[in-house]
Amino acid sequence: MTSTAAAAVVEKAGIAMRILVFGPPSGQIQASIDKAAQINKKHGPFDALFVLGDLFAPSDARDRSEQQERDLVEGTITFPIKTYFMHSSTASQSILERLHSSFEDIESASSGRVTRIAENLYCIGRQGVARIGRSGPVDGSASEGLQVAWIGGTWNGALKGVPAEDAVKATFMTRNSIESLLSHPSFEDRDALIARAQAISSSSSTSNGAPATLKEAREAAQRATTSSEALTEAKAAIAAIPPIDILLTNAWPSGISLFVPEEKLPHPTARTWGSPAIATLLLRGKPRYCFSLAPGPDGGAMDLNGGAIDGIIGLDTSTRRTGVYFERAPYKNSPHAHVAASSTRFLSIARFGNADKKKWFGAFNLVPAIEMDRLQRAAAGKAPDGCTANPFGSSTPGGASGRSSQAEAFAKRERGNGEIDALDSGANYRWAGQPTRGRGKRIRRDPHDGGANGLPQKPDVPLPPGLSRRGPIIPVGPADCWFCLSNPQAAKHLIVSIGTECYISLPKGQLPSSSDADSNVPGGGHVLIVPIAHTPSIFAPEPSQSEALHAEMNAWRKAISLAFASFGSVAVSWEIGRSPGTNSTRIGHLQAQSVPVAKELAGESLEQFFRDSAKECGYVFEERAEEISRRLDTTQQDADERQKLGDYLRVDLGEKTWMLDMLPEMTGHFSLQFVRETLARYLKKPDRADWRKCARSDAIETAETNAFRDAFEPFAKEVVGEEEDG
Ligand SMILES: [Zn+2]
Repeated sequence: MTSTAAAAVVEKAGIAMRILVFGPPSGQIQASIDKAAQINKKHGPFDALFVLGDLFAPSDARDRSEQQERDLVEGTITFPIKTYFMHSSTASQSILERLHSSFEDIESASSGRVTRIAENLYCIGRQGVARIGRSGPVDGSASEGLQVAWIGGTWNGALKGVPAEDAVKATFMTRNSIESLLSHPSFEDRDALIARAQAISSSSSTSNGAPATLKEAREAAQRATTSSEALTEAKAAIAAIPPIDILLTNAWPSGISLFVPEEKLPHPTARTWGSPAIATLLLRGKPRYCFSLAPGPDGGAMDLNGGAIDGIIGLDTSTRRTGVYFERAPYKNSPHAHVAASSTRFLSIARFGNADKKKWFGAFNLVPAIEMDRLQRAAAGKAPDGCTANPFGSSTPGGASGRSSQAEAFAKRERGNGEIDALDSGANYRWAGQPTRGRGKRIRRDPHDGGANGLPQKPDVPLPPGLSRRGPIIPVGPADCWFCLSNPQAAKHLIVSIGTECYISLPKGQLPSSSDADSNVPGGGHVLIVPIAHTPSIFAPEPSQSEALHAEMNAWRKAISLAFASFGSVAVSWEIGRSPGTNSTRIGHLQAQSVPVAKELAGESLEQFFRDSAKECGYVFEERAEEISRRLDTTQQDADERQKLGDYLRVDLGEKTWMLDMLPEMTGHFSLQFVRETLARYLKKPDRADWRKCARSDAIETAETNAFRDAFEPFAKEVVGEEEDG
């Protein structure tokens, strides 16, 4: 370790810096100065104030604040604390000009340099990484101060990626910004560095048997040296990467709500929030803290199809205006993270001075990672209370070893009145590195269930017990899976409802056509029940998790049946589970489908048609109820048995549940479209057997989704509970 040279000379305990983080003032300049002064007087002095979102008013509401804004940048009015704000594209032309005259050139406005605008006022541009000390920005090579990274602009999911545009004018987060950040040494991919080095070692250690000749022995020795050198070098390289203390973002990272129980979410739609680009920043940068904002009013603007441009469905404008205060339980980072950043805290702050009195600021005591002594590093390296697995996927499992008083502490704070709370003394008063013991009740937890929240511990595809991870399995991850909500390509306009384990969505290309005269259910009614986690079958997760998933899928199936019944229809549902790794190197994303069939067409004739169709294809239905429940018993503990049960095709014809036997000799011949094709023939709509021929425009699909959602809402409530009014 190269850093020990300095540390060995004198190890002085680092002293915490006091920082404040404000939600977007959006032009309330004088009010935010006043609030900062109040808080500073009561709890300060603070070393830095970071402003998320826009400091300046949006262009359509600038009249009232224009004078204050000018006074601020001209230094007539000043913040009592050194204040850092991101580049604001909404600022008026005169403010922009005033700001830019402070920059050496326009480019530096966007390239993340910290520029002093006036006393105690710094513009930090669109994105960047800087060291912020007690007396202002310091040189990146200094051994003091917080390493702060930031990314400005709003996230627009509809843009499917981050456009490269003029960085100064752009309202949205740009691709240039993301790439620029990722190329900074602090975002160096530690995991990849080590993985590459390990690949070198393993390729050199897997020579065939003992060397037979002297030449081979020499070569083996040479390889061994290279491999251990490669690892040593990689470790030295990551030790030299300056850890990020704070990442400031204006959008959530997508997927951050994974492993957060439903009741802790700040909004029912929260699982669909966020930007995958930000998730990448968190995965790569492994910051100790991330301060962020919920989807704002900008993202709520309508696109051509009448959906919000950020792709979020069901987020009311009042929540968009207020934002949310949400403190996620910390999550564990990969073992290659800097010791001080072995876990990450994520906090979403509401909008400054919001009428709902949601907490719009955070106050923290943080010892900069670079200033920590050995003891402080050791304390920071301990998994904090209530720590979850990494929601972005490449952390080690088993992070949730701590007892969760964090959750209760969080709950207590949530009840606060939006004013500052619990200013304990200590190195990290808000989120102390030391676990707090004996405070509050422990959350009771099933020993088989890794997480305090009942969600699976393994963030990526959980393999059944007994199945080795060394096999040639390349899981399809959220990045390239159509059914993972964190995939920006996922068709979010089709989402109907979101539960704890599953979400409900319309498929691309319904079997029934909503415009047909015989379509009873609004919007067509062909729906998907999709697990939120990327899992290939109900048996793939750990048993306890598997049960929860199975139960919720059944609950949704029932709600859908009841909804169909209210429109004179019966549900035909099917679900295809695959055991991972049997004959495929890709692990699919489980889903169940339901299609409404008019009541008069259901019953014995439908059942017989399915039996006959199966026979024609060389399959057979298992119809015995007892055998069916054995096959769907997710409490089964035996790993081999679970593996076997994992391959199934379940068909529900009205009240009846059947399983189609997929015999081993059929592997590879089985048509995944069997049920749809059979049903299309039965309904005398053979042309609708192939979903690709049934896909409609986004606009029509959005309209169908909205129609079905309205009809389904009372039934969905039975599963997800009442949604709070916004
Ligand atoms: Zn998936």
